[in-house]
Amino acid sequence: MPYLPIKEYVALKKAEIKNEVSRLPRKPAFAIVKAGHDVGSDSYVKGKVKDAEEVGIKAVVYQFDESIEEDALAIEVKKIAANDEYDGMIVQLPLPKHIDEKRIVSLVPIEKDIDGFLPDSGFIPCTPKGIVDYLGYNGYEFKGKNALVIGRSMIVGKPLAKLLLSKDMNVTVIHSKTTNEDKAFYIKHADLIAAATGKPGLLDFSYEYKKDAVIVDVGISRVDGHLQGDALPGLPVFFQTPVPGGVGLLTRLSLLNNVMEAYRHGI
Ligand code: NAD
Repeated sequence: MPYLPIKEYVALKKAEIKNEVSRLPRKPAFAIVKAGHDVGSDSYVKGKVKDAEEVGIKAVVYQFDESIEEDALAIEVKKIAANDEYDGMIVQLPLPKHIDEKRIVSLVPIEKDIDGFLPDSGFIPCTPKGIVDYLGYNGYEFKGKNALVIGRSMIVGKPLAKLLLSKDMNVTVIHSKTTNEDKAFYIKHADLIAAATGKPGLLDFSYEYKKDAVIVDVGISRVDGHLQGDALPGLPVFFQTPVPGGVGLLTRLSLLNNVMEAYRHGI
Protein backbone atom coordinates (compact mmCIF):
# COMPACT_ATOMS: atom_id res chain seq x y z
CA MET A 1 0.00 0.00 0.00
CA PRO A 2 1.40 3.44 -0.85
CA TYR A 3 2.15 5.74 2.08
CA LEU A 4 -0.12 8.67 2.82
CA PRO A 5 1.85 11.74 1.66
CA ILE A 6 3.39 13.52 4.66
CA LYS A 7 1.55 16.79 4.03
CA GLU A 8 -1.82 15.02 4.05
CA TYR A 9 -0.91 12.98 7.13
CA VAL A 10 0.16 16.09 9.04
CA ALA A 11 -3.02 17.97 8.05
CA LEU A 12 -5.12 15.03 9.24
CA LYS A 13 -3.32 14.75 12.57
CA LYS A 14 -3.46 18.51 13.16
CA ALA A 15 -7.22 18.44 12.56
CA GLU A 16 -7.51 15.68 15.19
CA ILE A 17 -5.51 17.73 17.69
CA LYS A 18 -7.58 20.84 16.95
CA ASN A 19 -10.74 18.89 17.54
CA GLU A 20 -9.43 17.51 20.84
CA VAL A 21 -8.27 20.96 22.01
CA SER A 22 -11.67 22.50 21.21
CA ARG A 23 -13.28 20.14 23.71
CA LEU A 24 -10.83 20.75 26.59
CA PRO A 25 -11.72 22.89 29.62
CA ARG A 26 -8.60 25.02 29.09
CA LYS A 27 -6.11 25.62 26.28
CA PRO A 28 -2.87 23.61 26.52
CA ALA A 29 0.08 26.03 26.64
CA PHE A 30 3.84 26.02 26.35
CA ALA A 31 6.66 28.53 26.63
CA ILE A 32 9.59 29.03 24.26
CA VAL A 33 12.73 30.59 25.71
CA LYS A 34 14.98 32.27 23.22
CA ALA A 35 18.05 34.49 23.53
CA GLY A 36 19.58 36.50 20.71
CA HIS A 37 18.75 36.00 17.05
CA ASP A 38 19.83 33.14 14.84
CA VAL A 39 18.30 33.11 11.34
CA GLY A 40 17.41 29.41 11.50
CA SER A 41 15.95 29.42 14.99
CA ASP A 42 14.01 32.66 14.43
CA SER A 43 12.11 30.96 11.62
CA TYR A 44 11.73 27.65 13.54
CA VAL A 45 10.17 29.54 16.44
CA LYS A 46 7.79 31.37 14.10
CA GLY A 47 6.78 27.98 12.66
CA LYS A 48 6.20 26.51 16.13
CA VAL A 49 3.99 29.43 17.17
CA LYS A 50 2.03 29.25 13.90
CA ASP A 51 1.49 25.47 14.26
CA ALA A 52 0.29 25.92 17.83
CA GLU A 53 -2.12 28.72 16.90
CA GLU A 54 -3.55 26.62 14.10
CA VAL A 55 -4.69 23.91 16.52
CA GLY A 56 -5.65 26.19 19.41
CA ILE A 57 -2.58 25.59 21.61
CA LYS A 58 -1.10 28.66 23.30
CA ALA A 59 2.61 29.30 22.64
CA VAL A 60 4.36 32.15 24.46
CA VAL A 61 7.81 33.28 23.33
CA TYR A 62 10.21 34.74 25.91
CA GLN A 63 12.80 36.57 23.84
CA PHE A 64 15.93 37.71 25.71
CA ASP A 65 18.80 39.90 24.53
CA GLU A 66 21.87 38.36 22.92
CA SER A 67 23.89 39.94 25.76
CA ILE A 68 21.93 38.43 28.68
CA GLU A 69 24.23 36.90 31.28
CA GLU A 70 24.00 33.18 31.96
CA ASP A 71 22.95 33.61 35.61
CA ALA A 72 20.24 36.10 34.66
CA LEU A 73 18.90 33.75 31.99
CA ALA A 74 18.96 30.88 34.49
CA ILE A 75 16.80 32.90 36.90
CA GLU A 76 14.29 33.69 34.14
CA VAL A 77 14.15 30.07 32.97
CA LYS A 78 13.48 28.88 36.53
CA LYS A 79 10.63 31.40 36.84
CA ILE A 80 9.05 30.24 33.58
CA ALA A 81 9.54 26.61 34.58
CA ALA A 82 7.64 27.24 37.84
CA ASN A 83 4.70 28.87 36.03
CA ASP A 84 1.73 26.45 36.24
CA GLU A 85 0.17 28.04 33.19
CA TYR A 86 2.59 26.12 30.97
CA ASP A 87 2.23 22.41 30.35
CA GLY A 88 5.55 22.35 28.54
CA MET A 89 8.58 24.48 27.73
CA ILE A 90 11.39 24.64 25.22
CA VAL A 91 14.78 26.31 25.29
CA GLN A 92 15.39 27.17 21.65
CA LEU A 93 18.97 26.40 20.62
CA PRO A 94 21.46 27.76 19.82
CA LEU A 95 21.85 30.13 22.77
CA PRO A 96 24.46 32.92 22.54
CA LYS A 97 28.02 31.55 22.63
CA HIS A 98 28.86 32.80 26.16
CA ILE A 99 26.03 30.71 27.65
CA ASP A 100 26.35 27.09 28.74
CA GLU A 101 23.44 25.50 26.85
CA LYS A 102 23.56 22.29 28.87
CA ARG A 103 23.12 24.17 32.13
CA ILE A 104 20.16 26.20 30.84
CA VAL A 105 18.42 23.20 29.24
CA SER A 106 18.87 21.22 32.47
CA LEU A 107 16.68 23.78 34.28
CA VAL A 108 13.63 22.60 32.33
CA PRO A 109 11.64 20.24 34.59
CA ILE A 110 11.49 16.76 33.00
CA GLU A 111 7.69 16.75 33.09
CA LYS A 112 7.74 19.90 30.90
CA ASP A 113 10.60 18.84 28.60
CA ILE A 114 8.51 18.57 25.42
CA ASP A 115 11.68 18.58 23.28
CA GLY A 116 12.71 15.36 25.04
CA PHE A 117 16.31 16.57 25.35
CA LEU A 118 16.90 15.68 29.00
CA PRO A 119 18.25 12.22 29.85
CA ASP A 120 15.25 11.28 32.07
CA SER A 121 12.65 13.11 30.01
CA GLY A 122 9.26 11.44 29.77
CA PHE A 123 9.04 12.65 26.16
CA ILE A 124 10.49 11.21 22.99
CA PRO A 125 12.53 13.79 21.01
CA CYS A 126 10.38 15.28 18.26
CA THR A 127 12.21 14.14 15.11
CA PRO A 128 12.53 10.43 16.04
CA LYS A 129 8.96 10.41 17.38
CA GLY A 130 7.60 12.04 14.22
CA ILE A 131 9.33 9.45 12.02
CA VAL A 132 8.20 6.40 13.98
CA ASP A 133 4.61 7.68 14.37
CA TYR A 134 4.38 8.31 10.63
CA LEU A 135 5.77 4.91 9.66
CA GLY A 136 3.52 3.22 12.22
CA TYR A 137 0.47 5.04 10.85
CA ASN A 138 1.29 3.63 7.42
CA GLY A 139 1.45 0.11 8.78
CA TYR A 140 5.23 -0.25 8.71
CA GLU A 141 6.26 -3.51 10.36
CA PHE A 142 9.37 -2.68 12.36
CA LYS A 143 9.94 -6.03 14.06
CA GLY A 144 13.04 -7.92 12.95
CA LYS A 145 13.85 -5.59 10.07
CA ASN A 146 17.25 -3.98 9.46
CA ALA A 147 17.42 -0.29 10.25
CA LEU A 148 20.39 1.81 9.27
CA VAL A 149 20.76 5.17 11.00
CA ILE A 150 23.32 7.44 9.35
CA GLY A 151 24.48 10.06 11.86
CA ARG A 152 24.91 9.82 15.63
CA SER A 153 23.89 13.22 17.00
CA MET A 154 22.22 13.65 20.39
CA ILE A 155 19.04 15.13 18.89
CA VAL A 156 18.46 12.78 15.96
CA GLY A 157 20.77 9.82 15.29
CA LYS A 158 21.14 8.43 18.82
CA PRO A 159 17.52 8.84 20.02
CA LEU A 160 16.22 7.51 16.70
CA ALA A 161 18.45 4.42 16.96
CA LYS A 162 17.20 3.84 20.51
CA LEU A 163 13.57 4.22 19.47
CA LEU A 164 13.93 1.84 16.49
CA LEU A 165 15.60 -0.68 18.80
CA SER A 166 12.60 -0.46 21.11
CA LYS A 167 10.51 -1.35 18.04
CA ASP A 168 12.49 -4.62 17.77
CA MET A 169 14.51 -3.58 14.72
CA ASN A 170 18.12 -4.68 14.13
CA VAL A 171 19.75 -1.28 14.34
CA THR A 172 23.10 -0.22 12.89
CA VAL A 173 24.43 3.29 13.36
CA ILE A 174 27.09 4.62 11.00
CA HIS A 175 28.77 8.03 10.97
CA SER A 176 31.50 10.22 9.53
CA LYS A 177 34.23 7.72 10.42
CA THR A 178 32.58 4.74 8.68
CA THR A 179 34.48 3.64 5.57
CA ASN A 180 32.80 3.91 2.17
CA GLU A 181 33.04 0.16 1.75
CA ASP A 182 31.19 -0.48 5.02
CA LYS A 183 28.65 2.23 4.21
CA ALA A 184 27.83 0.50 0.92
CA PHE A 185 27.51 -2.85 2.71
CA TYR A 186 25.08 -1.56 5.36
CA ILE A 187 23.02 0.40 2.82
CA LYS A 188 22.66 -2.70 0.65
CA HIS A 189 21.26 -4.73 3.55
CA ALA A 190 18.99 -2.07 5.08
CA ASP A 191 15.18 -2.22 5.06
CA LEU A 192 14.91 1.22 6.61
CA ILE A 193 17.53 3.92 6.07
CA ALA A 194 17.33 7.09 8.13
CA ALA A 195 19.86 9.66 6.98
CA ALA A 196 20.61 12.51 9.39
CA THR A 197 23.95 13.98 8.38
CA GLY A 198 23.35 17.33 6.67
CA LYS A 199 25.47 16.11 3.74
CA PRO A 200 23.37 16.77 0.62
CA GLY A 201 23.32 13.88 -1.83
CA LEU A 202 25.07 11.48 0.57
CA LEU A 203 22.65 8.77 -0.56
CA ASP A 204 23.00 8.69 -4.33
CA PHE A 205 22.61 6.34 -7.27
CA SER A 206 26.04 4.76 -6.73
CA TYR A 207 24.73 2.53 -3.92
CA GLU A 208 22.75 -0.67 -4.19
CA TYR A 209 19.46 -0.51 -2.28
CA LYS A 210 16.85 -3.11 -1.41
CA LYS A 211 14.02 -2.36 -3.81
CA ASP A 212 11.47 -2.48 -0.98
CA ALA A 213 13.59 -0.24 1.28
CA VAL A 214 12.23 2.92 2.89
CA ILE A 215 14.45 6.01 3.12
CA VAL A 216 13.70 8.60 5.77
CA ASP A 217 15.56 11.75 4.84
CA VAL A 218 16.17 13.90 7.91
CA GLY A 219 18.91 16.10 6.47
CA ILE A 220 18.22 19.68 5.51
CA SER A 221 20.87 21.71 3.70
CA ARG A 222 20.64 24.88 1.69
CA VAL A 223 22.33 24.48 -1.69
CA ASP A 224 22.23 27.39 -4.17
CA GLY A 225 19.22 28.82 -2.35
CA HIS A 226 17.28 25.51 -2.37
CA LEU A 227 16.65 23.05 0.45
CA GLN A 228 18.11 19.60 -0.10
CA GLY A 229 18.04 16.41 1.87
CA ASP A 230 20.78 13.83 2.44
CA ALA A 231 19.28 11.68 -0.32
CA LEU A 232 18.98 12.48 -4.01
CA PRO A 233 15.36 12.36 -5.15
CA GLY A 234 14.07 9.32 -7.05
CA LEU A 235 16.31 6.60 -5.59
CA PRO A 236 15.28 3.04 -6.57
CA VAL A 237 13.47 2.17 -3.32
CA PHE A 238 9.85 1.59 -2.26
CA PHE A 239 9.40 4.97 -0.60
CA GLN A 240 11.50 7.96 0.33
CA THR A 241 10.47 11.06 2.26
CA PRO A 242 10.80 14.36 0.40
CA VAL A 243 12.81 17.43 1.37
CA PRO A 244 11.34 19.96 1.90
CA GLY A 245 7.89 18.89 3.09
CA GLY A 246 9.06 15.73 4.82
CA VAL A 247 10.59 15.00 8.21
CA GLY A 248 10.53 18.71 9.12
CA LEU A 249 6.73 18.61 9.11
CA LEU A 250 6.71 15.39 11.16
CA THR A 251 9.01 16.99 13.73
CA ARG A 252 6.71 20.00 14.06
CA LEU A 253 3.70 17.73 14.48
CA SER A 254 5.46 15.81 17.25
CA LEU A 255 5.96 18.96 19.26
CA LEU A 256 2.19 19.52 19.27
CA ASN A 257 1.68 15.89 20.29
CA ASN A 258 4.17 16.26 23.13
CA VAL A 259 2.37 19.39 24.37
CA MET A 260 -0.89 17.43 24.37
CA GLU A 261 0.79 14.62 26.30
CA ALA A 262 2.18 17.10 28.84
CA TYR A 263 -1.30 18.59 29.22
CA ARG A 264 -2.86 15.16 29.83
CA HIS A 265 -0.23 14.31 32.47
CA GLY A 266 -0.61 17.64 34.19
CA ILE A 267 -4.42 17.76 34.35
P1 NAD B 1 25.02 16.88 13.49
O1 NAD B 1 25.90 17.75 12.67
O2 NAD B 1 24.96 17.03 14.95
O3 NAD B 1 25.36 15.35 13.17
C1 NAD B 1 25.64 14.90 11.89
C2 NAD B 1 26.01 13.43 11.97
O4 NAD B 1 26.27 12.99 10.65
C3 NAD B 1 27.25 13.16 12.79
O5 NAD B 1 26.96 12.13 13.72
C4 NAD B 1 28.30 12.69 11.77
O6 NAD B 1 29.12 11.65 12.27
C5 NAD B 1 27.43 12.19 10.64
N1 NAD B 1 28.08 12.33 9.34
C6 NAD B 1 28.64 13.46 8.81
N2 NAD B 1 29.16 13.20 7.59
C7 NAD B 1 28.90 11.90 7.33
C8 NAD B 1 29.19 11.04 6.24
N3 NAD B 1 29.81 11.49 5.16
N4 NAD B 1 28.78 9.76 6.32
C9 NAD B 1 28.14 9.29 7.40
N5 NAD B 1 27.84 10.06 8.48
C10 NAD B 1 28.22 11.35 8.44
O7 NAD B 1 23.59 17.06 12.83
P2 NAD B 1 22.09 16.80 13.39
O8 NAD B 1 21.75 17.87 14.34
O9 NAD B 1 21.87 15.38 13.74
O10 NAD B 1 21.30 17.08 12.02
C11 NAD B 1 21.56 16.31 10.88
C12 NAD B 1 20.80 16.89 9.72
O11 NAD B 1 19.41 16.78 10.00
C13 NAD B 1 21.05 18.38 9.46
O12 NAD B 1 20.94 18.59 8.07
C14 NAD B 1 19.91 19.06 10.18
O13 NAD B 1 19.59 20.31 9.59
C15 NAD B 1 18.81 18.06 9.95
N6 NAD B 1 17.74 18.07 10.94
C16 NAD B 1 16.48 18.02 10.45
C17 NAD B 1 15.41 17.98 11.31
C18 NAD B 1 14.04 17.91 10.75
O14 NAD B 1 13.10 18.11 11.48
N7 NAD B 1 13.89 17.60 9.47
C19 NAD B 1 15.62 17.97 12.70
C20 NAD B 1 16.92 17.99 13.17
C21 NAD B 1 17.98 18.02 12.27
